[in-house]
Amino acid sequence: MTGGVVSSLGKGILSSSIGKLLQEHGYRITIQKFDPYINIDPGTLNPYEHGECYVTVDGMETDLDLGHYERFTDIHTTRGNSVTTGRIYQTVIDKERRGDYLGKTIQVVPHITDEIKRRMLREDDKTEYDFVITEIGGTIGDIESAPFMEAVRQLKWELGQRALSVHLTYVPYLRAAGEVKTKPTQHSVKELQGMGIQPDVLVLRTEQHLEESVLRKVASFCNVSQDAVMQSEDLPSIYQVPVHMMEQGLDRIILQKMGKECRQDADLTEWKRVLHMQQSATAQRTVALVGKYDLQDAYKSIRESLNIAGIYNGVKVHLKFVNSELLSPMTIESELDDVDGIVICPGFGQRGIEGKILAAQYARTHDIPTFGICLGMQMMVIEFARDVLGYADADSREMNAETPHNVIDIMENQKNLTQMGGTMRLGAYDCTLSPDSKVRAIYGQPVVRERHRHRYEFNSAYTEAYEQAGMLCVGRNPDSHLVEIVEIPQLRWYIGTQFHPEYSSTVLHPHPLFVSFLQACAGAE
Ligand code: GLN
Repeated sequence: MTGGVVSSLGKGILSSSIGKLLQEHGYRITIQKFDPYINIDPGTLNPYEHGECYVTVDGMETDLDLGHYERFTDIHTTRGNSVTTGRIYQTVIDKERRGDYLGKTIQVVPHITDEIKRRMLREDDKTEYDFVITEIGGTIGDIESAPFMEAVRQLKWELGQRALSVHLTYVPYLRAAGEVKTKPTQHSVKELQGMGIQPDVLVLRTEQHLEESVLRKVASFCNVSQDAVMQSEDLPSIYQVPVHMMEQGLDRIILQKMGKECRQDADLTEWKRVLHMQQSATAQRTVALVGKYDLQDAYKSIRESLNIAGIYNGVKVHLKFVNSELLSPMTIESELDDVDGIVICPGFGQRGIEGKILAAQYARTHDIPTFGICLGMQMMVIEFARDVLGYADADSREMNAETPHNVIDIMENQKNLTQMGGTMRLGAYDCTLSPDSKVRAIYGQPVVRERHRHRYEFNSAYTEAYEQAGMLCVGRNPDSHLVEIVEIPQLRWYIGTQFHPEYSSTVLHPHPLFVSFLQACAGAE
């Protein structure tokens, strides 16, 4: 899967949709993302650079597209599903130092391209797949992605019918001319062909419905069969994309071109049921996202988890971004008095945290349903210490190393690290829930497994003080006893989790905490 003309066309959503459709035909699939930048993973990137950092069950910090893959297909991705140029080079350089290529000059072709191909073919993965969908980040023509494209060319040649190239491009509408323009698409395909890759399927992103004649024209200019050129119009919800693509026969054309069987009864029944619920939702609820990044992609999985949980509660969720840096005792009332629920977002560092603490206090004292996630949970804990326990100087060691009331402290094994990349507490860990807690009732099971990404934690020395004052530690790691969940049972819904439930909410299996939170928000009026 490649993209042309411009970025942000939704390659991740199209890859996820294709994955979903192939699953519907009974095939075992996986979807992977190859990013052309040099960072080993996006864990060290600022969300402004690359949006949210998604975390896999096995603890890899990855591109947010993996979140789409999981939400659409309900399968877990792993470290093998996210590859960067940095990781490719690191592997090759490590091999060179070990002496694996003794006597040879190491070059982009064949050594780098061979390593790319090895990963595209998932040679290290023991799981059996019928299809591996590989999405190449960036746009055709980027200098950085050239080795990826060369690997694609070689694989297409080597695998023949067993490999297929889908290219997603953009067809703009020029209002002044009153016409859609296919020239950028033609250029983009030419560029692909110049690299030796003939696309088999073209998907044209468009804001306007395209006439049959436009698709025909693109087909003939680009050497692609007519039935393999389709359009992806703007839709009210990204979850309608698989249905829209199936209606145009994308699944059938892929299977036919690859010589695979089509299941006649594949029709996305279960998926359509969710879409139907989404369309019939009438009531609207406003949920405030209190965070510091005013950017759609920064809290992608949280946004999607809330939207999905809304569907299951029959409500449309209106997300109101509240910039925590701008919150003050003067503005808090006007920012939060009209919302039905509040999410206090994850994050790192000092900037904007006083606003999150203020939001936690406003929510607690006004009994507004509130969900604190990771740093958000830590801010709930600090606020409670300052306002209820009477420790005015309570803080996290992350923000204030000197505070005598370090209610959030650094984890033991994080103290003497020499490297930043990939060293947080990452991936899924078990969490035991207290028998009479709200969360135990919400999950409906005694032990859960959730994904983490943090260095700091609740300081257990304060457990008793908190519990006596009404904030309970209701989820703990069975081995390390780290506190993973706090709740105030006296309030309608006031829960903080040290882990990130948003990473494991999918369209067909929404996360119980988000569903319950939205239920509380829906009852708010
Ligand atoms: N900065 C906090 C920590 O490292 C929270 C991290 C997060 O919100 N993901 O513990």
